[in-house]
Amino acid sequence: MALRGFNLFAFLVVNGVFLSRQSKEEVLLDMRSLGSELGWLTLPYENGWEIVQTVVNGSPLYTYSVCNVDSSDQDNWLRTTFIQRRSGASRVSVELQFVVRDCNTFGSSSVACKETFNLFLAEADADVGTNFRKGQFRKVATIAPDEITQGNVLKVNTETKTVGSLSKKGFYLAFQDMGACVALLSARVYYKTCPSTVQSLAVFPETVADSLREVEGVCVENAIGQATPRIYCSAEGDWVVPVGQCQCLPGYETTADSCQECKPGYFKSSVSLASCQVCPRNTKPSSAGATECQCEDGFFRSPSDPPTSPCSAPPSAPRDLTATTLSGEGRLLLSWSPPLVTGHRPDLTYSVACSICDGTACSTCGERIRFETDPAELRETNIIISDLDSHLNYTFTVEAHSGVSQFDPERASATVTAALDYTDPPKVTSIHLEKSGPTSLSLSWSLSRRPPAHISHRYELMYRRKEAEGERDVTTYTVRILDKSFVQITDLTPDTTYIFKVQALSPEGTPGSFSTEHEFHTSPLAEPQIQNSSTAVLGAVVGVAVILLAVLAFVVLRRRRLSSRGRRGAEDPYFSTDQLKPLQAYVDPHTYEDPNIAIQKFVTEIDPNAIAKHKVIGVGEFGEVFRGVMKTQGKGEVTVAIKTLKPGYSEKQRQDFLSEASIMGQFSHPNIIHLEGVVTKFKHAMIVTEYMENGALDTYLKDHDGEMSPYQLLGMLRGIAAGMKYLSDMSYVHRDLAARNVLVNSNLECKVSDFGLSRVLEDDAEGTYTTRGGKIPIRWTAPEAIAYRKFTSASDVWSFGIVMWEVMAFGERPYWDMSNHEVMKAINEAFRLPAPMDCPSAIYQLMLQCWQQDRAIRPRFADIVNILDKLLRSPESLKTIADFDPRVSIRLPSTSGGDGTMFRSVTEWLESIKMSQYKESFARAGITTMEQVLALRHEDIRNIGVRLPGHMKRIAYSILGLKDESSSLSVFAV
Ligand code: AMP
Repeated sequence: MALRGFNLFAFLVVNGVFLSRQSKEEVLLDMRSLGSELGWLTLPYENGWEIVQTVVNGSPLYTYSVCNVDSSDQDNWLRTTFIQRRSGASRVSVELQFVVRDCNTFGSSSVACKETFNLFLAEADADVGTNFRKGQFRKVATIAPDEITQGNVLKVNTETKTVGSLSKKGFYLAFQDMGACVALLSARVYYKTCPSTVQSLAVFPETVADSLREVEGVCVENAIGQATPRIYCSAEGDWVVPVGQCQCLPGYETTADSCQECKPGYFKSSVSLASCQVCPRNTKPSSAGATECQCEDGFFRSPSDPPTSPCSAPPSAPRDLTATTLSGEGRLLLSWSPPLVTGHRPDLTYSVACSICDGTACSTCGERIRFETDPAELRETNIIISDLDSHLNYTFTVEAHSGVSQFDPERASATVTAALDYTDPPKVTSIHLEKSGPTSLSLSWSLSRRPPAHISHRYELMYRRKEAEGERDVTTYTVRILDKSFVQITDLTPDTTYIFKVQALSPEGTPGSFSTEHEFHTSPLAEPQIQNSSTAVLGAVVGVAVILLAVLAFVVLRRRRLSSRGRRGAEDPYFSTDQLKPLQAYVDPHTYEDPNIAIQKFVTEIDPNAIAKHKVIGVGEFGEVFRGVMKTQGKGEVTVAIKTLKPGYSEKQRQDFLSEASIMGQFSHPNIIHLEGVVTKFKHAMIVTEYMENGALDTYLKDHDGEMSPYQLLGMLRGIAAGMKYLSDMSYVHRDLAARNVLVNSNLECKVSDFGLSRVLEDDAEGTYTTRGGKIPIRWTAPEAIAYRKFTSASDVWSFGIVMWEVMAFGERPYWDMSNHEVMKAINEAFRLPAPMDCPSAIYQLMLQCWQQDRAIRPRFADIVNILDKLLRSPESLKTIADFDPRVSIRLPSTSGGDGTMFRSVTEWLESIKMSQYKESFARAGITTMEQVLALRHEDIRNIGVRLPGHMKRIAYSILGLKDESSSLSVFAV
């Protein structure tokens, strides 16, 4: 009966192994897999559901069917055995496979035929056995086929119903048939799980699928996570929405679902998902599971370097360090190349340090210089340094640094020593008003840098009255050339604004650039003078009288104290303007009762142990002069000249000897010989002065005859004039100014020396006793000083004119071998020395002015300095050469012969014109008689070997002179 409607076997064979399921399902009951009688209860026992056994592939297969379509009131139940519910599985699925036959196939007889059946479920905590009570079951669903079977081909339906909220230990399913023709081929009860899984390197356990369930995971071995990783198990058994991620520990890398140790030679330093990396540059090979690779010997990582970074060697010294002077003020460019070993680091920087060394000790430059960029962490390979002093030697040390420098104990560095090589004068940065009066302004100015000690700059000051409102521009400036960076300007109008500008001049006279214009105002005349002029005038008269009296008293006192040879400067009316405003008047040491006090006051005492004499360089009146060295605190050893007092001196001689020091000690000027100090507390007294490498000027010029240009000679004269101006400003009269008393240093700077008091004239071989007593160097001395001992700065100006002549004539003796008597006579007859050969006319004109009979109209030293400066500034002004008469300038006037016959030989002639160095050249050329000499032409002289232009001219002029018949002049008349 049960098989009436179906050929189940055919159905089962056709489908073969059917309905294979995914492993995500946990099966609680599988009707088909049981393979034996199921032991399900049927009710009613006989008439309802019946079991059918079929053998498929040798195995029995059991199905249930029922087909009571003919009779109504069918209520056939089929109950499963007790199905154990697994804990957690509160929701199960029931999958049914069934076939339902079409009621129509049974004809009209089957009125009550149904095409559905019902699924019921009853929960129970224990197997109730056969105690089957319908009332305990609740309906789960009506099961209806999707396809009804009509013919022989069975239409198998599969229907899955899910039952939730199960709570008891187990349950029964029941199928109620109410008159259908149905075969239940399979009933499978299962619940779904999300299988154990590894996601995001976390392990999640197998989880029964329910409605969305959150599951916590655990990181796999050698992995950690910041937060507990989570995932959701869906009702369908799918893992969804993972949250969080575990990462492999250092030394481990991620592979699929686990963390694997790094291989040898690889490393991983952090907790990450990254792979292990090959050990970086300059490291030792690592072992398995390395978290970092150690540096090779000699290579390092900085503390801030990550362990992933390569190791590097500390940088070596920067290379090719050079210092270049830059244009502008005190600036220098230091540049270098990167070191050979940079360590390939991105943090390579350089530091620059500066020190000043003086031979014995070094000190840091500190705030005295300025780096234009931070010298501590330079990335560039150059730096500009400014505010450098041009007279100092700087040592710059450049070090390369990187993050690993600290591991290098040696710290390689490069060093360069630099000094600014300035020829440009410094800039005048500002002008300051020191003091203002109604008619005077005292100004000083600052320089952009300190000039080197050996270079004496001068200043050109220009000023003019500022135009009043409405007035047209007042463009006429007064120009003053100054030796100091301060000045007092007098003769100004009260209560008036003046405009000033200053520029520095190099020793050669090259101007720098002008400062900006500064305005200063003279003070108005004092009130009482305006209100009550008569009282003011009276007051002024009384004041002036008092001052005059005081000056007079001082002069008288001084004159008394001075010996008959005492010098004075202040009484000369010609120089009164200068002398009323001296820098700081020179004090005659003889005004002190005890000359030792003057020495103490003006002179530094030197420890004799600090001095060492090396070589005798000259002999003075009191003893030998040595070149030697003196130890100083700041500058190490300096070369000095040491004048000694010969043994057996008297106290008077000692005082006279030291008096030169107490005069010299009062002076400070680049063109006045500088006194270092004296040794008095030792039995051999010594005077120590700066050392002048080229000795006395007259000798120097003779030795370098014709080798210097008029411009160079003028530069020397300018120095001497500046020194003399300084002395005259100090109211000091030299009395013995001559080239032999000027010293020359290695820079060809000239400095006035010889300041002895008594010895000035005693000491000088040129000193001649005059009829009035006392010795006078006649050829250098102004007529009024010879005649009545009127020694003033104006007589020094005369002597300066003679020095000019000496210089331009390369040390020629003034008035040659004329006797003193002849010289005085010639001067009194208004004859003057003629221009030396090749002497620029402008210079000769200045000499002639110095030799004006009336001392009041001779130029002052200030004027001379100004004139020389102007000439130096426009060298073209030196092009016009003064007329030169060889008859008087070369030959001795008293021996001029006209035809050369007074010379017995060529040698004698050459000696007389001081060209004896050419004796052999003339002899070699076969010129042995004066007749041959007279026949020489220019080219012949050159061919003989005379090349220097000065020598050439001297010889040519001499020959010209020899040829001249009328040669009886003495000196030029003015
Ligand atoms: P004085 O006694 O000053 O005339 O010096 C005698 C000689 O010593 C001079 O003619 C120079 O040759 C030499 N002399 C003096 N002082 C110095 C010095 N400061 N530097 C170099 N040589 C000097």
